[in-house]
Amino acid sequence: MGRFRPLLAIVVAVLATCLIACGGPTVKAPPTYTPEILQRVELYRGGVESLRDRFPELQGYIQKQDWVNVQSFIHGPMGELRARVNRLAASLLVRDQPQAEALAKEIYSHLERLDEAATNGQQVLAGQEYRNALDDFDSFLSLIPTA
Ligand code: ZN
Repeated sequence: MGRFRPLLAIVVAVLATCLIACGGPTVKAPPTYTPEILQRVELYRGGVESLRDRFPELQGYIQKQDWVNVQSFIHGPMGELRARVNRLAASLLVRDQPQAEALAKEIYSHLERLDEAATNGQQVLAGQEYRNALDDFDSFLSLIPTA
C-alpha cells in the first residue's frame, strides 16, 4: 500500500481545491421582488403604516407635556410596533433585511429613550427622540417595495 500513498495525497488535495473553488451547491435567493414576495410584503405593510399614521399623536402629547399619555401611547398602540415591524422586515429580500432590521432597532431605541424622557419630564429630549424615531420610521418605510 505504501507506494500509493503519495498519489492518494495528490488526489485528496485536488478534490479539496476543487470543492473550495467550486463552492459546492448554493441555494440562490431571488434577486428581485417577485409578485409572490410583494404579496407577502403587502400583507404586513398595512399594519405598520397604520402605526406610522398615528405616530404624530405623540408630538401633540409632548407639546402639552402630557407625559402620562406619551407613555400610555408608547406602551398601548405602539406596543404592537415591534412585532409588526419585525414581520415586515422579515418579508423583505435577504439583501434588504439587515438595513431594515438596523432601522427597526433604531426606532425602538428612540422610543425607549422617549419613554425615559417622559418619566423624567424632559420635554426637549422627548422632542428630539420623537423626531429621531420618526426619521428612522420613514427611512424604514422607504425600504419597503411597492407592488
Ligand atoms: Zn436613529
